[in-house]
Amino acid sequence: MPEKKTMTTGFGAPVGNDLNTVTAGPRGPALMQDVHLLEKMAHFDRERIPERVVHAKGAGAHGYFEVTADVTRYTKAKFLSAVGKRTEVFARFSTVGGERGSADSARDPRGFALKFYTEDGNYDMVGNNTPVFFIRDPLKFPDFIHTQKRNPQTNLKDANMFWDFLSLTPESLHQVTVLFSDRGTPDGYRHMNGYSSHTYKWYNAAGEYYWVKYHFKTDQKIRNLTRQESEVLAGGNPDHATEDLFNAIASGNPPSWTLEMQIMTPEQAKDYRFDIFDVTKVWPHGDVPPMVIGKMVLDRNPVNYFAEVEQAAFNPSNLVPGISVSPDKMLQGRLFSYHDTHLHRLGPNYQLIPINAPKAAKVANYQRDGFMRTDDGGGAGPNYWPNSFDGPSPDPDALEPHFPVEGEAGRHVYTHPNDDFSQPGELYRKVMNDMDREHLVGNIVAHLKNALARIQKRQCALFYKADRQWGERVAAGLGLDAAEVARLADMTQEERAAATAA
Ligand code: NDP
Repeated sequence: MPEKKTMTTGFGAPVGNDLNTVTAGPRGPALMQDVHLLEKMAHFDRERIPERVVHAKGAGAHGYFEVTADVTRYTKAKFLSAVGKRTEVFARFSTVGGERGSADSARDPRGFALKFYTEDGNYDMVGNNTPVFFIRDPLKFPDFIHTQKRNPQTNLKDANMFWDFLSLTPESLHQVTVLFSDRGTPDGYRHMNGYSSHTYKWYNAAGEYYWVKYHFKTDQKIRNLTRQESEVLAGGNPDHATEDLFNAIASGNPPSWTLEMQIMTPEQAKDYRFDIFDVTKVWPHGDVPPMVIGKMVLDRNPVNYFAEVEQAAFNPSNLVPGISVSPDKMLQGRLFSYHDTHLHRLGPNYQLIPINAPKAAKVANYQRDGFMRTDDGGGAGPNYWPNSFDGPSPDPDALEPHFPVEGEAGRHVYTHPNDDFSQPGELYRKVMNDMDREHLVGNIVAHLKNALARIQKRQCALFYKADRQWGERVAAGLGLDAAEVARLADMTQEERAAATAA
């Protein structure tokens, strides 16, 4: 006979009756002294934690990463130190702009966040399913996200906000191209790639460093939804990606991704034709061929969504020896923002929550106290450093090699000579086939048509600058005068903004 489980209060006292409130007589009123009712209600009132301001809707799974190639000449990261070595991972996939209840099939980048539970502490790779991003300066990020969310008056998604910002931010064009291709509506989380997008630094045991980009290529093959399919799913099964991931794993069909790295030496990087720290650019495969180095398999579903997925907190500043950051400004901004948002959303001790706590390393430092400290708080050990009571001490082997930094401090306007139009143009002309281009134009027209004409023209001029035919096709779809769009495309960004101002 299995042991009978007695229901208890939050403090562990047995509950005698959980169906009837304590009342004065059978008709009430209810008595304040029903402490079980009060505790139960008060806890229920607090069940929701703040929603993530971005990436609110998501799904996650556990699994492992296995190294398949020797990369020790590039990095001394322990979890990458031997072929065949496995490290436990947790992955969370998400949409970006929608709320927690929004449709999985929305046109949006998808978050691709990974936590590697390494013996040197947790390493997080917080990427997207796109290799580039909309902006290259973190100062623009809150504004950009506001435009993807709801109008402050109507509380509706707003095509004017969306395209006004993007058309005044030409560096967004590359990501806009990917977003409005069918890759902007992947058919679930299993059928998409994940990219670090940013450039990171790897350094080896000898202190030599390399610039790297991560590409997690889906082994399930890329599969996208058309605009029409994604709209049908948004109504018919708004949780289709969450369901697909859970069911695939539950039925013994674990999805996997092959990790390919692009690796550049500092010498290669010096005179490279693109700014490798500009997250709106890729490194063309022809210049830097990706090399296969590992495999990630997701084979275990969470047991409790809130504990493992909702409370999961990823952070690009969770780095381990052998891996560091690059000067990419967007990445530098994210190094602050993730930890900060977790402090707000989950509290100062969010790193103690089991899904976020290291599994293969032990935390030992002098951080103390704070709300919801659930471990022994450092026990009786010293709470300061330096100390002579055998407290944990720094290990110089964990230091990143020094690197030179120079320059005048200031709000530098971006002046790198590489342009914002050639890579999206290449994607349109070289990578997409006729059907891809037709879908791209159709997806853009279906969305941009809801914006004011002057904003349509300004955005259309950007498509025109990337590829004349593309600009003309969007103009035709919107009923715009192609000659006027061409004139706008010839202007500088400032002239164009002035010519299309309210
Ligand atoms: P390649 O022909 O070597 O690679 C093009 C890559 O584009 C493919 O490998 C695939 O990336 C990706 N791709 C295919 N279809 C689409 C689509 N509909 N939307 C978005 N991406 C797609 O060319 P280059 O490396 O010279 O790059 C050319 C252009 O391809 C770039 O300007 C960029 O826009 C795009 N691209 C490049 C990537 C890179 O890292 N070099 C990555 C993704 C896109 P994948 O294999 O990752 O699926």
